[in-house]
Amino acid sequence: MSREIINTAEGRLEYTITHRPRVTRRLHMELDKSGGLVVVAPRHWTKAHVEATLVDNTARVERFMLKARERQQGELRFVNGELHFYLGGKYPLVTGAATGCKSGVIFDRRELCVMVRQPGPAAIRAALLKWYRRQAAEIFSERMRVISRKAAWTRNRQVQLQLRTMKRTWGNCSAKGVIKLNTHLVKAPMPVIDSVIAHELCHLEEMNHGRAFYALLQGLNPHWRRDRARLRLEGHVYLQ
Ligand SMILES: [Zn+2]
Repeated sequence: MSREIINTAEGRLEYTITHRPRVTRRLHMELDKSGGLVVVAPRHWTKAHVEATLVDNTARVERFMLKARERQQGELRFVNGELHFYLGGKYPLVTGAATGCKSGVIFDRRELCVMVRQPGPAAIRAALLKWYRRQAAEIFSERMRVISRKAAWTRNRQVQLQLRTMKRTWGNCSAKGVIKLNTHLVKAPMPVIDSVIAHELCHLEEMNHGRAFYALLQGLNPHWRRDRARLRLEGHVYLQ
């Protein structure tokens, strides 16, 4: 098995090709232990044919990887000691019973301390989500202010930010200038958060992903390709 790299409409795709006696007609996909894509191809297919098939089915490949990585990652259990993300860092949960009005989350840069009245996964999950939402509201609006200063087209424009907990999307922008960002994005490193905000700010001017859109984005974030690849690779771990 050798590592192959191709460029598709969705960016760089790394994979390994392997053959198996039973796979004789269609391309089959799976993940290796580290979450890398393994393409099981019919034995008579050339490497060029495999490549062309992947390029033609980019959206399907992306969908497969997202779902398979989610499955591989396993469900979060919201228990003591479990690692949770915040701004790209991984922190253990320290859970405890809250007394009086002390329920909530305290983050001290080493751990996420979650105090709830009746400890249990559902209550811990709810308290965490509430905390993430508060952090996201503060951080996203501040970053949006900073990045907007470099985006001349946002001047004299009313931009409204809304937070949503979304399963597949990181953000979107409506024709009315409402930017919705995924609350889970606050688990990603700051450059990745910035890149999603930059992307949505460009949609205020260019609704479609055309040439003009990418020209704007290139000016606002020259590293957008790298950031997008990173979000594609790591994103599934933030989406719970
Ligand atoms: Zn877009």
